[in-house]
Amino acid sequence: MELTHIEHIGIAVADLEQAIAFYEQSLGLKCYRIEEVTDQKVKTAFFQVGQTKIELLESMAPDGPIAKFIEKRGEGLHHLAFAVKNIEQQLEEVSSKGVQLIDSKPRKGAEGLDIAFLHPKSTKGVLVEFCEKR
Ligand code: ZN
Repeated sequence: MELTHIEHIGIAVADLEQAIAFYEQSLGLKCYRIEEVTDQKVKTAFFQVGQTKIELLESMAPDGPIAKFIEKRGEGLHHLAFAVKNIEQQLEEVSSKGVQLIDSKPRKGAEGLDIAFLHPKSTKGVLVEFCEKR
């Protein structure tokens, strides 16, 4: 496996504007990008903290994955994203070790990264994302 660092931490929020205000005013971070990922029905906001980003996720539709997550578990930590090299190969490798995948092939995520999710049933309850910048 070749995980290089924690690329970002995804946090589900009910109200993106309020959440951005908290990160900016209370924590002193600066939102550098807001982006809509339409196939995931989310609006995202990014903050850089060293090598790692915070990705705030607000649902753009009541039936979107983030809306469902908040309905079930409330706002909070949603996923952990590792930067990987050679994402297809990493997916094959974890899959061969019995890890269940949500995405067997990478797709395009925010910031133009290739991303894929592992199933939280296989990862001790944490939704894990692999991402690769190409
Ligand atoms: Zn993510």
